Amino acid sequence: MEKPLSIQPYIGRFAPSPTGDLHFGSLVTAVASYLEARHHQGQWHLRIDDLDEQRCIPGKDKELIESLETFGFQWNGQIAYQSKTVPHYRAALEHLKEQGAVYACDCSRKQIQETGVKGIEGPVYPGTCKDKGLSLDGKLAIRVKANKNPLAFFDKRFGLQAQNIKQDVGDFIVYRADGYFAYQLAVVVDDYLAGITHVVRGADLLSSTIRQISLQQMLGQPQLNYFHVPLVLGKDGKKLSKSENGPKVNHQKPIQTLLAAWHYLGQAMPDEAPGTLEDFWAWASSEWHFSAVPREGTLNAAVK
Ligand code: GLU
Repeated sequence: MEKPLSIQPYIGRFAPSPTGDLHFGSLVTAVASYLEARHHQGQWHLRIDDLDEQRCIPGKDKELIESLETFGFQWNGQIAYQSKTVPHYRAALEHLKEQGAVYACDCSRKQIQETGVKGIEGPVYPGTCKDKGLSLDGKLAIRVKANKNPLAFFDKRFGLQAQNIKQDVGDFIVYRADGYFAYQLAVVVDDYLAGITHVVRGADLLSSTIRQISLQQMLGQPQLNYFHVPLVLGKDGKKLSKSENGPKVNHQKPIQTLLAAWHYLGQAMPDEAPGTLEDFWAWASSEWHFSAVPREGTLNAAVK
């Protein structure tokens, strides 16, 4: 007898950091992530990445949520907050400690700059503290021993991605000396807890994905599917960032703004603009072609 086809569920998510207003770049990511989920008749979750409270602006979470509502996004279940998930990050770190997969590090940024070989994101950590046996009691940064073998994954838009973490990044931080868990660990735990199967997010995170996959392996979690979308660049050629250069998107004419994001994502424009947000999302979900999404970001000239 033939085995029944197993259909993998689709659970996607959008995870803005409350460090500023919803700008055009984050809207583009949200639209791509939402449409992929809708296209697969999947779920779409919302998470507020508010782990690093020094960077978060009080009240911005509420504003981001209101912005998403203005554009007609609808998410499944409760909104998750990283700040409420800390015990789970701690448990994951304990698990890594039990495996002997981590060590504490007291190197300063300057020391690493001086000793490190240049890698894909600044200097490669040379493993200076690996055999020092420093205490893992949380007063120092904690690094995970990086995989020595190259790892690879297939990104839905950027194709095959391979990296040797040891050579390209070095042993990386999972717990910071200032007492916060590092994004790399937090995101892996968050996605696992929410049962996320598909991650659609900005291409600035493409190069950190392999570190996340290596943590998934160490923590015995399934590997997720990834789709990175091009960044929206400001007039300075840099990624629009909530905290620096991203102007808040136009909320007065949400359909027009959504169509601008749709256009940015390489999708064919309609002959006539949909009349309501509901019409927009119904139309966009059926017309969405992931393969039309460009790989390169372009300058954001006039999206106000
Ligand atoms: N919180 C991150 C951001 O706002 C996104 C993290 C993720 O999607 O993995 O850029």
